Amino acid sequence: MRPTHLPSYALIREWPAFTKAAPMRVMTSACIGGELCGVDGSSNGEYPLARRLLALPNVHVVKFCPEHEAFGTPRRTPDLLGGDGFDVLDGRARVVNDSGEDWTQGLVTASTTMRDRALEQAVHVALLMDISAACGSTVIYDGPRRLKVYQRGPGVAAAALMRAGIPIVSQRDERTLALLFAKLGVTADGNLLSDGFDHYERAWYRDYFANHLA
Ligand code: SF4
Repeated sequence: MRPTHLPSYALIREWPAFTKAAPMRVMTSACIGGELCGVDGSSNGEYPLARRLLALPNVHVVKFCPEHEAFGTPRRTPDLLGGDGFDVLDGRARVVNDSGEDWTQGLVTASTTMRDRALEQAVHVALLMDISAACGSTVIYDGPRRLKVYQRGPGVAAAALMRAGIPIVSQRDERTLALLFAKLGVTADGNLLSDGFDHYERAWYRDYFANHLA
């Protein structure tokens, strides 16, 4: 089933036509926007489809990196222990970095700041980096990243945005990104698509979560 955090088809239809003077307002994980704010000081890879959308003239971009806001760059890697981002916001799970330091409060505070910035900027949608303990929306790690165990659910910042009613799409949600391109009056460049599916539709996602009761 299509995750409810993605912008619904009806919502996308209802949005007005976006122009340079009245653009689609998009909050993005700063790394997707090209900032060198990953834990290692990189931009966490290349995401040309997402980057192309952010470069359109009728898109207004608001970049934010909650982990950089809280801990600077470079930094240790944060892991979610005991639940997803909603559980962290509600005090049922913790954020601990890979040297064992509790980072819960720092990431909650930065996620709240990100949410407030998104509301101030009246963004239509957030384009966030999936899998991240802060920005993940469809899938995140379950426990230490080095163990490569996954769970469905959002990271801490994505959970804060979801609770504020802000729809989220990730760099891996190509079907939804193509709909956003169409809304912006542009056809998504087929050369930039890997398969045209959203993350939850892919074989990896279906197989992994069919075999793990997450
Ligand atoms: S916290 Fe979000 S914006 Fe910052 S590096 Fe990680 S995925 Fe990118």
